[in-house]
This record gives sequence, structure tokens and C-alpha cells, in this order.
Amino acid sequence: MSARELPPPARRSWWLEEALDFDPGEPCPPLEGDVEADVVVVGGGYTGLWAAHRLLEREPRLRVIVLERDICGGGPSGRNGGFANGFWSSLDALAELFGDERALELARAADASVLELGNWCERHGVDAWYTFAGDVGVATSPAQEGRWRELLGAAHRLGVPDRIVELTPEDVAARIRFPYRGGGVLIPSGAVVQPARLARGLRRVVLAQGARIYEGSPVVRFQAGPPAVARTAAGSVRAPVAVLAANAWLAAEKPFRRRLAVRGTYMVITEPAPGRLAEIGWTGGEGVWNFRAALNYLRTTPDGRIAFGTGGMQPGLAPGVGPAYDWDARCVTEVAAQFRRLFPSFRDVPLEAAWGGPIDVSGAHLPFVLTLPPGNVHAAAGYTGNGVGPCHLTGQILARLALGVEDELTRLPLVGFEPKRFPPEPLRSLGAFAVNRAALRRDSADDAGRRPGRLDEALARLPGRLGYHLGA
Ligand SMILES: Cc1cc2nc3c(=O)[nH]c(=O)nc-3n(C[C@H](O)[C@H](O)[C@H](O)COP(=O)(O)OP(=O)(O)OC[C@H]3O[C@@H](n4cnc5c(N)ncnc54)[C@H](O)[C@@H]3O)c2cc1C
Repeated sequence: MSARELPPPARRSWWLEEALDFDPGEPCPPLEGDVEADVVVVGGGYTGLWAAHRLLEREPRLRVIVLERDICGGGPSGRNGGFANGFWSSLDALAELFGDERALELARAADASVLELGNWCERHGVDAWYTFAGDVGVATSPAQEGRWRELLGAAHRLGVPDRIVELTPEDVAARIRFPYRGGGVLIPSGAVVQPARLARGLRRVVLAQGARIYEGSPVVRFQAGPPAVARTAAGSVRAPVAVLAANAWLAAEKPFRRRLAVRGTYMVITEPAPGRLAEIGWTGGEGVWNFRAALNYLRTTPDGRIAFGTGGMQPGLAPGVGPAYDWDARCVTEVAAQFRRLFPSFRDVPLEAAWGGPIDVSGAHLPFVLTLPPGNVHAAAGYTGNGVGPCHLTGQILARLALGVEDELTRLPLVGFEPKRFPPEPLRSLGAFAVNRAALRRDSADDAGRRPGRLDEALARLPGRLGYHLGA
């Protein structure tokens, strides 16, 4: 992959540019002055917007204010791969953490969110290209074969063999043909969306419900109170209750420093090439991913593009979210090369755009919902690259917690869940960097059919040995 072939550095994702062209939405200028609200929401991605939406559905007269650093959807909610999944692909880990019954309860609740996303879009006239076609995990190299056995075993043991179905190489090839014809699994209850259209659609609906959204309004100081006070450069919001929905940016804040680590994930998108998709048999609209440690996730668009991403990347050693998460030449080059390797027949199809974004990794590869002292501040984070479906669930939970409502959703095991904490800095960043590089080298060796080095193998396995489940 030559640098000449790389799309230019981008601040916004292709998805967000497309969504803004489709509907720029009404302006939401920055906050100026001191105002009061019933609930202040920090962060205008899916978590914050779903929470605001559910709050106003339950209490239409509530004064809800959302403060967003950039524009709604400027963060990962408008940058992601658009895979709307529940937790079936973590079923074995869920059962280990929460027990069989609670694991199933959570997986079913998350599944309901995936379905509800489609219904919600339809009810609210949000054209987010929702396509419910399942998602397929495949081995794209011999080393990845069978990495789904534990997952499949858990599905059988828990009596849900229809939720994770093994695919033979022939079954996979009937859906998509890669150079290496591997087996895999089908998770039938998966969907894909145009992620930024979903974020911007939510923004439109929440504004119509009466929420006030201030974009270009980073919160520079936050006090829990009560009342909670969120200060921006030019104003403040004072409210008895607050919802923190700032995703990877929360990792810099004290209560989250050892609960979250930041990693990057980068994507490329091709120009439309529907004929080429037909040649490899990929016309069903499924999301597809593989079993690398830094997994590739790929999906199509209605006009015949492939959007292709790689998870678990780290643009540098610096902790926290910096501009390299939006675009980083080394990471983008790597993702583009992986795309070319898996799709040789697309060799003359140009890549139209590339971008990245930060991931809020939790030690359990699962999100958590937390109430911070003294009890009026609620937060959800730790999605670890799987937030499109789960944010719908956590948004409902946050709205309930903010209103003091208890029910089956607030009793789900994600609420109050404490994933294993990360070591303090600088150990965390240095260790994560070494492990990340080793995992990438191991993936490259697997891709090339070589044996990974012993040290790389040992380092890549270290987090698991230490009790972390980091996934991609
Ligand atoms: C490239 C990429 C691909 C991904 N692919 C998938 C996928 O296919 N499927 C999937 O399920 N998940 C995926 N994810 C993860 C998913 O996008 C996230 O889990 C989800 O969007 C999280 O939503 P959120 O609202 O919690 O966070 P965000 O969307 O990050 O929203 C948080 C918002 O808070 C704002 N903010 C931060 N600090 C402040 C502050 N001080 N004051 C005010 N506002 C602030 C940010 O600007 C941001 O808009 C991907 C992520 C990336 C980056």
C-alpha cells in the first residue's frame, strides 16, 4: 500500500459527512451564560442522546440540557462501523462473570435493543440504513480456525444454540468469499446502520422533544454537587442530576482512570463497487468480522461500498484522547493494507476516505453503568468497541437512574458492575503499548501463515492471564 493511495487525513468520518449532506439539522450554538436544568447530560453521542430521549419520553416537561464538545456524532457515535450487536459474542465471558441465568438475561435485553433500533428508526422517520441481516464471524487465516469453540460451547450449554450458529467453510462462502476459505459463526440477531445518520437522527428527535443541545461546548470543569455544575468556557449548567456520557474522554477523569483504557480503531471506505461485491457473493448486507486479536470488521453500504476497520490499535504512547485518534498515518496504512489483502479483487477500487476514533476499553470488554458519590451523577462507559446496540440499553438505564426508577433494566448486572481495574500510569500505557504491539505482530504472523514469535505470543496472552478480557 503506497502512501499515494491513502485517502487524505480527515477530521470527520465519511459517515458523518454523508449524514450532514443529507440533513445538516438545525444549529445548536455553544452555551453562553449560566442556566439551570433538571438533568444535565455531558456528551452528545448515543449514550447521552438515548438517555435524553428516554428521560423526555418518561417526563416530557423535564428540562434536559446536553453539552457536547464537538457536534453530536462528531465522536465515535458518528465514526463507528455501524455494527449493532448485543452481547452474544461475549456469552462465555458473561456466564463466567455473572452466572448463566443473569448472562442470558443481559444478552436478551441487549438483543431487544438491536431490534428496537430498527423499529425506532422507522417510527421516527430516521433513515439510518438499518439492515437486520445477522453478523458473521469468520476465520480469515488457518490460525483463526476454531477460535469460536468456547463461545459455541457456552451457547449450547446455556440452551441457546440458535443464537450462535457454527458455519462450515461452504456456509461462509455462500455469504462472502475471502482468499482463505475458513469456517466461522453466524449471530443471527445483528444489524448494521449508517452510524452518523443514527446519531444525527437522535439529535433531531431529542431536539423535537424539547431538549436543549449546546454543541461546541466542552465541559472544562464538573462538580458533582448536588447540585451538579458543568462549566464550559462561556457558561455553566446547574442541575440536581447529571449524566456523564463522554465515553473515552472519561478515561482522563479520576473516577474512571483505572476503569477505562483508551485504544484506537481505524476505518477505510471504498468507492462504490457493487459488481465486485456480487463477484465475491457478498450481497446479503451482513456485518462480517474475523478472529484476529485486533479484529477486522467489515460491512457493505446500500450503494455497494465496503467499510473496513481494524480494532485494538494504538497510535502512540500518550494516554488520553488526542488528535491521532481521528487520523494516524501508520494505523490507516495498516488498515488499508489489511483490506487489500482480504479483497484482492478490489485492487483497482479506490479508497475514498479513512478515519479513526477512540475506544473506551474496560477490563471485562463490557460496559458498566455507575452511580458516583454522592448519588446524583450517573455514567455509562466501557463499551470496548461495541456500543451501537448497548448504548440504546444503557441510555434507558441512565434515564431510569436519573429519575430514581427501579425495574428489571436497572437490575441488570451491568449496573454497578466493576470490571477488573487497570494498573496505574505510567505502567498502564507502557504495558498496553507493549502488549498491543505484540498482539499486532502475532496477528501479522497468523495472516502470513508464519508462527508468531514466542515473546509476542506470551505478551499477547498476558492480559488474559492477568484476568482481563480485552477482546479487540
Ligand atoms: C472507528 C470506530 C468503529 C467502531 N465500530 C463499532 C461498531 O461497528 N459497532 C459498535 O457497536 N461499536 C463500534 N464502535 C464503538 C461505538 O462507536 C461506541 O461504543 C459508541 O459510539 C459510544 O457512544 P457514546 O455516546 O458513549 O460515546 P461517543 O460517541 O464518543 O460520545 C461521547 C461524546 O462526548 C463528547 N465529549 C467528550 N468530552 C466532553 C466534554 N468535556 N464536554 C462535552 N462533551 C464531551 C465527545 O465529543 C463525544 O461526542 C466503534 C468506534 C470507533 C471509534
